[in-house]
Amino acid sequence: MSKSINDKGWDELVIGAALYAFDEKVDSELLSTTQPENREYAETNSKKAYVGDWRNIKPVFNPDTCINCQNCWIFCPDLSIISRDKKIQGVDYEHCKGCGICANVCPTNPKSLIMFDENLPNEEALLQWPEKTKKGV
Ligand code: SF4
Ligand code: SF4
Repeated sequence: MSKSINDKGWDELVIGAALYAFDEKVDSELLSTTQPENREYAETNSKKAYVGDWRNIKPVFNPDTCINCQNCWIFCPDLSIISRDKKIQGVDYEHCKGCGICANVCPTNPKSLIMFDENLPNEEALLQWPEKTKKGV
């Protein structure tokens, strides 16, 4: 049985090989009408690789305080903030690396993305959400 591309070592890859994002030819219209999670990715696409186990802290999203400014979506270096029609839906935990940039750039008071221990359930994190801090206090 031949090895899957994901099982190959760096020294087994063919030099100069092209790694296509999709199995089939994808036209721009399909890309513009199909949400990322519904596209037919090729086995070599990084979307198929689960890398969430790199994290030891994770961003938790609180929709109650979010103003949908999109800062987190713009600054996430890993496209791991999910936004639909300019409304934040949450975090793609299969790809988020836990870098904390999204929480850092969130402008609300209290923040709408806060980093918590990876093993704390999100429901518990939401119960620990800080209150709004007052200016000058
Ligand atoms: S922690 Fe980093 S990788 Fe994860 S969603 Fe935030 S900015 Fe993106
Ligand atoms: S940066 Fe904060 S307020 Fe802005 S969209 Fe992201 S979570 Fe919402």
